[in-house]
Amino acid sequence: MKVFTVFVFFVAVVIVSPVTVALSGESAVFSNERFVQRLLEGNKRFADGKPSHPNQTFERREHEAKGQHPFAVVVSCSDSRVPPEIIFDQGIGDLFVVRVAGNILDDAGLGSIEYAAEHLHVSLIMVLGHERCGAVEAAVKGGEAPGHIKSLVEALRPVVENAKGRPGDLAENAMRTNVKMVVDHLKESKPILEHLVHKGTLSVIGARYDLDDGRVTLIP
Ligand SMILES: [Zn+2]
Repeated sequence: MKVFTVFVFFVAVVIVSPVTVALSGESAVFSNERFVQRLLEGNKRFADGKPSHPNQTFERREHEAKGQHPFAVVVSCSDSRVPPEIIFDQGIGDLFVVRVAGNILDDAGLGSIEYAAEHLHVSLIMVLGHERCGAVEAAVKGGEAPGHIKSLVEALRPVVENAKGRPGDLAENAMRTNVKMVVDHLKESKPILEHLVHKGTLSVIGARYDLDDGRVTLIP
């Protein structure tokens, strides 16, 4: 029995370690493990083709009209194939979503995230990159992009430079690097997010969505 308990503890620590690293408050650790599981379990239902479409009823809409209490912020790409509420099988009022092509951060996006963390008391932020991201591929390709697309490509250029020289596919590596850099940017963002992370009431994690099998995996 004792061996089994140790084993369960070991598995729990290994699985949730990316989440607990940034945390010091016990309640935040507990709630965020629960919230990460809620996202991953919803994604499993979706990827298995067995979504339960929770919190999408008439009653839920009426209830949430009185005030929102989302359990997670998801920062994701605008790509039409990566809608967070659908791929995590969630409903109205569950997720606070910030979407920009290439899941890059600008001031308006950062302000939206700060609002969710500071005023809605959301304690978990997931930065979600995805396979074959067009914005990342454009930055990898290089050259001059037309119109305001240029600002997206410019924002991703340092990420591509950072990922160069590593074994494997450059676009895939750049996408992962981008997720990690956005996670770090959020954790270090002064004055609001850094303070909450330091206090132990906010954690920021990165993840990757696979277009082919529909599954989300955490990026350590
Ligand atoms: Zn994308």
